[in-house]
Amino acid sequence: MQFIDQAEIQVQAGDGGDGIVAFRREKYVPAGGPSGGNGGRGGSIIFKAEANLQTLLDFRYSRLFKAENGQRGGSNNKTGASGDDLIIEVPCGTVIYDAECDRIIGDLTNPGETLLIAQGGRGGLGNHCFLSNRNRAPENAFPGQPGENRFLRLELKLLAEVGIIGLPNAGKSTLISALSAARPKIADYPFTTLVPNLGVVRKPTGDGTVFADIPGLIEGAHTGAGLGHDFLRHIERTRLLLHLVDATSETAIADYQTIQQELKAYGRGLSDRPQILALNKIDAVDDEELQALLAEFQHLTQAPVFTISAVTRANLDILLNQVWKGLDAIQAAEKAELEVLVSG
Ligand code: GDP
Ligand code: MG
Repeated sequence: MQFIDQAEIQVQAGDGGDGIVAFRREKYVPAGGPSGGNGGRGGSIIFKAEANLQTLLDFRYSRLFKAENGQRGGSNNKTGASGDDLIIEVPCGTVIYDAECDRIIGDLTNPGETLLIAQGGRGGLGNHCFLSNRNRAPENAFPGQPGENRFLRLELKLLAEVGIIGLPNAGKSTLISALSAARPKIADYPFTTLVPNLGVVRKPTGDGTVFADIPGLIEGAHTGAGLGHDFLRHIERTRLLLHLVDATSETAIADYQTIQQELKAYGRGLSDRPQILALNKIDAVDDEELQALLAEFQHLTQAPVFTISAVTRANLDILLNQVWKGLDAIQAAEKAELEVLVSG
């Protein structure tokens, strides 16, 4: 199963500055020579792979990227200042297409790797360049050349870091809609009727994390019932599970256990995956009932249990906070493990 983040943008390299026509004016020199300087080069557009980015989220908010123009030439043969290049940071693994002909321009894989995508225009020549024996007072200068203008499509394969699990009707899709800032595309998905719902949720630090709602996780999913098996294979790759239970369900505890059993039956370490449990739809349960249910769940899991409403958005910030903490802890643990491997 492949998740793809896409963005369409336009990049415009800077135009070269115009060359100018000027003549020296000096005391006692009746006719000064040509002294019009060249225009400066326009800034180019350069893409750079950045390890700290995971999504193309930011490209949904700005779509036109323009590098600086070169300055006009000056008198006294002064060349105009060049325009600064514009460096656009993209996540590692981003593939850049020319959107007009649908051809790959290039991809950026390793952190720090760069790719020139649109060349800035050259500056025009000033009239001092046209001085010759025949023409002692050239009156011509060239305009700067336009910078390259390109329409691009960026594509990035995404990995869902957080899997939202729970029985149908628990509120998974509602939650992902409430949380997410963007919806990536799901590519080449073989099923047309039931697709995982994805959302990119913005972290406090700026970049996004992909949440995947895993529908169809029903009893017997591990044996391939429904579409469950395929989805389970996908959550295998997530790092953290967010388990949603419908607090209005008469059988909330059993609902929870059904999912846990499915995870266990599937094996491959899925039931050991860090899990955050949240009781959803608290807007529709009276407080006393909720407290009783909460106590029951806390007793059962011996872990913190969150109470939220995906509809009213109650406590979603608290839940997200826990998700970020969980992901940070997982990342720190992975890093420590890696360091042990390297030093050992
Ligand atoms: P999914 O099957 O887990 O994706 O569940 P959905 O997101 O489709 O939600 C199932 C139903 O529960 C829908 O009718 C939602 O409107 C409703 N629902 C989801 N979250 C809440 C909530 O926080 N409060 C209430 N009252 N209803 C909710
Ligand atoms: Mg759903």
